[in-house]
Amino acid sequence: MTTSPDNSPEGDFAGLALRGELTATLRELGYEAPTPIQAEAIPHMLAGRDLLGQAATGTGKTAAFALPLLNRLPEGQRGRTPTALVLVPTRELCMQVSSALHRYGRAFDVRTLPIYGGQPIGRQISELKRGVDVVVATPGRALDHLRRGTLNLDDVATVVLDEADEMLDMGFAEDLEEILGEAPAQRQTVLFSATMPKRIQAIAGAHLNDPVRIEIAREVTTEGEEPRIRQAAYIVSRAHKVAALGRILDIESPTAALVFCRTRDEVDQLTETLNGRGYRAEGLHGGMDQPQRDRVMGRLRSGNAELLVATDVAARGLDVEHLSHVVNFDVPSAPESYVHRIGRVGRGGREGVAITIAEPREQRLLKTIERALKQKIQVAKIPTSTELRAKRLELTRAALYEVCLDDDLDAYRVVFDSLTDDFDVVQVGLAAIKLAHKNSMPEAEGEDIPQPEVSSRRDRPQGRTTKDRADRKPRRERGAPGGADGRAAGRPGPRRGSKGVERVFVSAGRDAGVRPQDLVGAIANETGLSGRDIGSIQVSDRFAIVEVPSGAAREVITALNRTRLKGNRVKARRDKF
Ligand code: AMP
Repeated sequence: MTTSPDNSPEGDFAGLALRGELTATLRELGYEAPTPIQAEAIPHMLAGRDLLGQAATGTGKTAAFALPLLNRLPEGQRGRTPTALVLVPTRELCMQVSSALHRYGRAFDVRTLPIYGGQPIGRQISELKRGVDVVVATPGRALDHLRRGTLNLDDVATVVLDEADEMLDMGFAEDLEEILGEAPAQRQTVLFSATMPKRIQAIAGAHLNDPVRIEIAREVTTEGEEPRIRQAAYIVSRAHKVAALGRILDIESPTAALVFCRTRDEVDQLTETLNGRGYRAEGLHGGMDQPQRDRVMGRLRSGNAELLVATDVAARGLDVEHLSHVVNFDVPSAPESYVHRIGRVGRGGREGVAITIAEPREQRLLKTIERALKQKIQVAKIPTSTELRAKRLELTRAALYEVCLDDDLDAYRVVFDSLTDDFDVVQVGLAAIKLAHKNSMPEAEGEDIPQPEVSSRRDRPQGRTTKDRADRKPRRERGAPGGADGRAAGRPGPRRGSKGVERVFVSAGRDAGVRPQDLVGAIANETGLSGRDIGSIQVSDRFAIVEVPSGAAREVITALNRTRLKGNRVKARRDKF
């Protein structure tokens, strides 16, 4: 990878030879520079090479394959059959990738269609008839369309397998083989996977032609003096990120903090929100001219602002002496940029703090960073309302302590004396503290922020399903009472017998070749559930029992009744026992 001396990817999108409409769109979206995977993958994909990329969610891999796909769209009138096919493991990712393609390709009015199970097939068929440029599909549904003759791959020039390891773990290997067999032999094939087990290498060997290999999870070394940096991560859903950041800042009370965002828009929005919540925040991004930047830096250096919200590019070369904290409002897209960001604190032997706010789906990227750094990033709990209140009282106490040392307090004696005519001294003191506290501290937010489950398995991403440990053992070692294949132990999802869980009976089992991962695959593919939502699965010879959150039982039953498991129609119903 080409890197500038400060270890960040060099140049901007203009250097990547993408069509002008695409670079303009990226500028409008506030993307300032390609992420490492984009800088590496895009030129090869544009040159038509096959590619095998190891990259997790959060690295910017979607744009890494989406931009070249869009770049290759024929100019002028486009035909009805798709020129690109993207295969993804889950419905959620299907919609995500499709909307990313739509966003990046808006200058071309790209026709992209997500096809996944659980959505009426008729609607998908009529969209396909009307004409589509890029199809994004889960394997099961793609195969369904191929068999019906409603999806034609004759003009497909590029096939992308996204999160290929997940697709294999969900039992889609045979489906993938069949789909790839239907695509023209003279195509470009691109495979992205967060891990590279042997099975992925085998697929790559069979279906990719002399691929370029790209690995983003490479090792990073920190040069010079080992910085003294306390590193912590908080796992929180997107909806609660700003509230969580507020609490963390309140507890940490930074002297000055640099908060990193990915795009200019995020910088602007977060700066505004933080100011609205009573923090003194300034934004800094590549869209600002030098005098604006100087003003912002001046306010930070003089202590008039305590938070600087910035993109990586804008923060390059920036040196703030008294910075105590670096906050990654998103997990940085590569270990290199993490190292570069947190290197802003802990200089000259001073202690610094690096905080990362990660969405549940970004936990794998966090693990990649840990591995590359060979350091553990402690996952911390978001401060509760009680902790926050205690901290705020502590700050008020400290502030009052300072004031008690002042020698001009006599000016207030007249107020004190008149109040003590009516109230006792302690009560007057407490009222003064209450007033000081209310005036200096924002109101504590009442509700605690929900804390999503933290992925404990080092290599498993949150929100996607894979085989659990029990499944990886040879079959005879598994086995629950009654000869069933259990997979309750050690896996996330609703616990057996726990509140809000329902058991769904499925009329096919081991005799029909059904394995737990086939059920997980079918359910995740056909419903809005992710693998983590699914509880224990017991597969016996003739049937299987799956535990699902009770609110979702009906959706699961409808979906299973509609789909095929290992080629067989099955009956699903609520388990009565
Ligand atoms: P992905 O790894 O594809 O899921 O992307 C993670 C996030 O990074 C998405 O929200 C993208 O919108 C964002 N993103 C991708 N590329 C860039 C870039 N070059 N600059 C800023 N943000 C980006």
